[in-house]
Amino acid sequence: MIKTSILNFTLEELKEDFKIKGIKQYRAKQVFNWIYRNGILEFTNMNNLPNNLIKGLKKNYKITSIELDKKLISEDGTLKYLWKTEDNELLESVFLPYEEDSRYSICVSSQIGCSLGCKFCATGIDGLKRDLSTGEIVEQVLQIQVDVSHREFKIPQITNIVFMGMGEPFLNYDNVMKAVQILNSRKAFNIAKRKITISTAGVVDKIIRVAESEEQLGLAISLNAPNDQLRDKLMPINKKYNIKKIMKAVDYYIQKTNRRVSFEYVLMKGINDKEVHLFQLISLLKNKLVHLNLIPLNPVSELNISRPSQEVIDHFQKKLRENNITVTIRKEKGTNIKAACGQLRSSHKNGGS
Ligand code: SAH
Ligand code: SF4
Repeated sequence: MIKTSILNFTLEELKEDFKIKGIKQYRAKQVFNWIYRNGILEFTNMNNLPNNLIKGLKKNYKITSIELDKKLISEDGTLKYLWKTEDNELLESVFLPYEEDSRYSICVSSQIGCSLGCKFCATGIDGLKRDLSTGEIVEQVLQIQVDVSHREFKIPQITNIVFMGMGEPFLNYDNVMKAVQILNSRKAFNIAKRKITISTAGVVDKIIRVAESEEQLGLAISLNAPNDQLRDKLMPINKKYNIKKIMKAVDYYIQKTNRRVSFEYVLMKGINDKEVHLFQLISLLKNKLVHLNLIPLNPVSELNISRPSQEVIDHFQKKLRENNITVTIRKEKGTNIKAACGQLRSSHKNGGS
């Protein structure tokens, strides 16, 4: 019998499933407590459950389904986790501690590989292998929370989640949204929706869908090119959803949620870093409730692209600021373990990362 991971279920769904299997519904809450409040990942250790129930649970369900393959530790406290799935695929997540303001963030993956093939991104190189299940997404957070906890579970507590690891979260919409629900649930992680950010290459119909749900989720748009001609080349999805469509969807999102939307702009030398690009970028973002993140390209060994000089990066920031656009240059973390966005990939060929 194929066992389902308990991490695929919301509490309500687990109650329902227990009911079908003849298990008392209140047990679901106990199991949830063990997992999400105490970080217990073995039924055997749930010591207020009767033995026959533990046996039944073991027969029907499993808890974990990804296994730690490798953990890389950076000097700045960033941790990169490489997990192996049951079908022997690899996926990555990154733990980013910001001790100064007690923020502990996890960058999670939503797919193994990615079908969108952006020209500057390591994840896109080998295409899409498959979507991750809800459980596999939730488990990245759970296992990391267990791993980083000291003295007791949830100290320190994960406070932020960003869907900026491998994959395009809006192309695995249902599993991602259910994972968000579990991460947000008071009975599970209790991470506020506004502290969960979904980053998208611009899947417009899903931006509209999230806007319509009026969820207070964080939204980040990977823009990376300020005109369609260049964006078509760098991010092929632009042929389906061009910049105009994206901006319209973003306006709608802001109108519905009243939330500031982030834009990401990966700066690539000689590609999108010229004065004309800066000018176009300013006219796209001016007078909107947005925040711009300038990301100096992280080098990918197979790709022959580099980042501009610090001077160019600073110039972009200065000019954008002069036009009253809130902008930050992404602070680098975990550089020595290649933990940055766009450097995560499933196959670690050629020495990989
Ligand atoms: N598919 C989603 C989320 C994962 S990519 C998306 O594209 O938004 C997360 C971020 O990494 C995106 O903003 C993307 O533009 C950025 N990125 C991709 N390759 C990069 C690289 N080589 N250096 C820096 N950032 C990169
Ligand atoms: Fe996929 Fe995002 Fe990488 Fe593009 S940047 S290939 S959408 S993961």
